[in-house]
Amino acid sequence: MAHVLIIGAGGVGRVVTHKCVMNKETFTKITLASRRLVSCKGIADELPAGAIEIEQVDADNTAELAALIKRIKADIVINVALPYQDLTIMDACLETNTPYLDTANYEHPDEAKFEYKEQWAKHDAFKEKNLMALLGSGFDPGATNVFCAYAQKHYFDEIHTIDILDCNAGDHGYPFATNFNPEINLREVSAKGRYWENGTWIETDPMEIKMVWDYPEVGPKDSYLLYHEEMESLVKHIKGLKRIRFFMTFGQSYLTHMQCLQNVGMLGIEEVEHKGMKIVPMEFLKTLLPDPGSLGPRTKGKTNIGIVAEGLKDGKKKKIYIYQISDHEKCYAEVKSQAVSYTTGVPAVIGAKLMVEGKWKGEGVFNMEQMDPDPFMKELNAQGLPWKILELE
Ligand code: NDP
Repeated sequence: MAHVLIIGAGGVGRVVTHKCVMNKETFTKITLASRRLVSCKGIADELPAGAIEIEQVDADNTAELAALIKRIKADIVINVALPYQDLTIMDACLETNTPYLDTANYEHPDEAKFEYKEQWAKHDAFKEKNLMALLGSGFDPGATNVFCAYAQKHYFDEIHTIDILDCNAGDHGYPFATNFNPEINLREVSAKGRYWENGTWIETDPMEIKMVWDYPEVGPKDSYLLYHEEMESLVKHIKGLKRIRFFMTFGQSYLTHMQCLQNVGMLGIEEVEHKGMKIVPMEFLKTLLPDPGSLGPRTKGKTNIGIVAEGLKDGKKKKIYIYQISDHEKCYAEVKSQAVSYTTGVPAVIGAKLMVEGKWKGEGVFNMEQMDPDPFMKELNAQGLPWKILELE
């Protein structure tokens, strides 16, 4: 049906590649390309011989990317490299008339700030070419946006509040490690918090707001308010919304390590002089920390990510909780990655599958909640991410 080009052979790229191979009636040809061929080769070696093709590409270079897309005649691009590469990959897709999908919004390498502005600015260019770009097709953003759209479609006339609740109760046995790219992860959690209420963004200090939430099959966990990118699009697309917040769980050990690292400047992204050399502290820290890809075989426990929505249906108050539970060890047994990469990679494959099958169509740049949630929710159940709904009121 389609030749898929997957860009980025990291933790999420591994899951996407394995899952595309499992969906070979849709992805009849699969090419995995990354900055280093050795990363692609590592993944290819886990799969049956000949299941995928591999290529080297520098995704910061639009001309190089466009040449690759043209040469291999890709029908769709799944971008699971880093958020820094979103714009160059989108430009290469525009140049070659190829549909685009990613899992994280653009972030400038020199500024710890992420927003959709630059990607949304490409809407008209994609529209003029009758092309679709789907943004944020991971878990959060991704499945959480679809949960909101599903709640809106089937449970509410108006949604007034949404809390997105992200719990990773996995234990990898290290005193400190990040479950995905350390630079991206630490930038996200050390930044100021932000939530949206009555039309304005309210800023908080990092980790200032905490609540305890009782996550099904996990138990009560300290959950901290963070800014997270899906809120930027959800405030535009969910009817009647008055407040949206995002909470993520952190254990005390993680927070203490992060606080120390921040206090001594190790989370800095500006260059510093060290023995006559220029180094970026955060990049050096990344070198020291365990590679997130190596956590897979050691991580035990579950993730539980979902949304709680409150609002009105037929004039009556209503509150629902939609959530998905994954087990780190089960994910590893299936695709050699822990649940954080699994829960990101599977929705990326589902988004691409729906685009290839024409079930999700559009001309321009779209966020997940703009699409019909039903086929995606069905695929989550079929592709290894079963979800549940609790009616709380
Ligand atoms: P990794 O760091 O494990 O992998 C990123 C890969 O991108 C690396 O293998 C690297 O290649 C490749 N890469 C980096 N720069 C380039 C470049 N210039 N050209 C080509 N390839 C490049 O990250 P993850 O797999 O953990 O994350 C992938 C994406 O998923 C990120 O954007 C992250 O933000 C997003 N994400 C989204 C989530 C969601 O729920 N929406 C949750 C978690 C992650 P190489 O190995 O060849 O050097």
